[in-house]
Amino acid sequence: MTVNDMPEHKFSLSTELVHVTTNKDQYKASSVPIYQSATFQQETLDSPGEFDYTRSGNPTRTTLQGHLAKLMKAKHAFVTSNGMSALDMIVCMLESNSHVVAGDDLYGGSDRLLTHCKKLYGFEVSNIDTTSITAFEAALRPDTAMVLVESPTNPMIKICDVKEVIRITRQKSPKAIIVIDNTMLSPILCNPLDFGYDIEYESCTKYLSGHHDVMGGVIATNSDELAKRIYFNINSRGAALAPFESFLLLRGIKTMGLRVERAQANAIAVAKFLKSKGLKVNFPGLDPEDPSTAVFNSFARGPGAVMSVQTGSVEKSRAICDNTKLFEISVSFGSVNSLISMPAYMSHASIAKEVREERGLKEDLIRICIGIEDADDLIADLDNALKVAKLN
Ligand code: PLP
Repeated sequence: MTVNDMPEHKFSLSTELVHVTTNKDQYKASSVPIYQSATFQQETLDSPGEFDYTRSGNPTRTTLQGHLAKLMKAKHAFVTSNGMSALDMIVCMLESNSHVVAGDDLYGGSDRLLTHCKKLYGFEVSNIDTTSITAFEAALRPDTAMVLVESPTNPMIKICDVKEVIRITRQKSPKAIIVIDNTMLSPILCNPLDFGYDIEYESCTKYLSGHHDVMGGVIATNSDELAKRIYFNINSRGAALAPFESFLLLRGIKTMGLRVERAQANAIAVAKFLKSKGLKVNFPGLDPEDPSTAVFNSFARGPGAVMSVQTGSVEKSRAICDNTKLFEISVSFGSVNSLISMPAYMSHASIAKEVREERGLKEDLIRICIGIEDADDLIADLDNALKVAKLN
């Protein structure tokens, strides 16, 4: 895969990433300036300019939003303070007692937010295994207000047929807003709006930023009506991304093509190595015979750089995490450096143990997020940790 595979842009994606055509700076600054100002003056009382107050709009943020809209192939994009606030701005469009169909292996924070909405707003949430389109179809109702999927899921790397989700939801739940969290693949590897999703959102904290030095979220849509409602929520609740963070994201995005390409190549090598050691490795496309590979290839341009591994023993999994030298024990993914974690104890600890068990999220599951280091160094480091854990 190269990042140039993407259709329908004026230039190849590697070029589009670098050229911020929305930069309309008055002094033609090459790097988009940070408008670190809360307010903007008006010429007269009756003539407001394009910007008046940064909660409502800011030139650095507007430039970033235009750039992201281009990359996500969206008519509208809005950036928020982080990925969770992006989901919050979507969820708060729903009425009380709404019915929501969502995956059963969502990011832990997304699951926590929906659980909160159940208690506070009477949402009815059907969490289903989205790898089964039959189960998905059975959960849909004529009054379903929102469908939320991730593919691949985090952390079990389950593959859901994102195109079928659209077709079936439109048939069975015509009123539903169909939403996808595309954080795992990023616009480099997948463009869900092309398939007809109403809303795509991502945590910019991951691949878009790439250096774990900024938090952000983005919501993209082709619907003018949804865009109006999303902007209203962001402005009225004050969830928009600050100017400095917008600047950092604009900088990070320029190298995203190279970063994702390299991290993905490393991840393919690491996944093959771990599989060769007899471990159960969850990584898209690793087994070409598995039916999920064809499904995945129907909507994604590459497997990304996140995998999960089961050792069959919590102690052995802990020993691997404790004995790698290059993999930081850390939540999150999408940074230039490689990370290792145990979701049941970290990113997904907010999901009750019995619910995790019910959903098949095993205690021994290790999530490995690959960075842009040298693949041989990463493999040697894991090889050593496997030896210490007596798995080699
Ligand atoms: N979606 C996914 C798939 C994630 O992994 C995360 C965070 O890890 C989020 C959303 C939330 O993003 P943020 O941490 O920027 O709020």
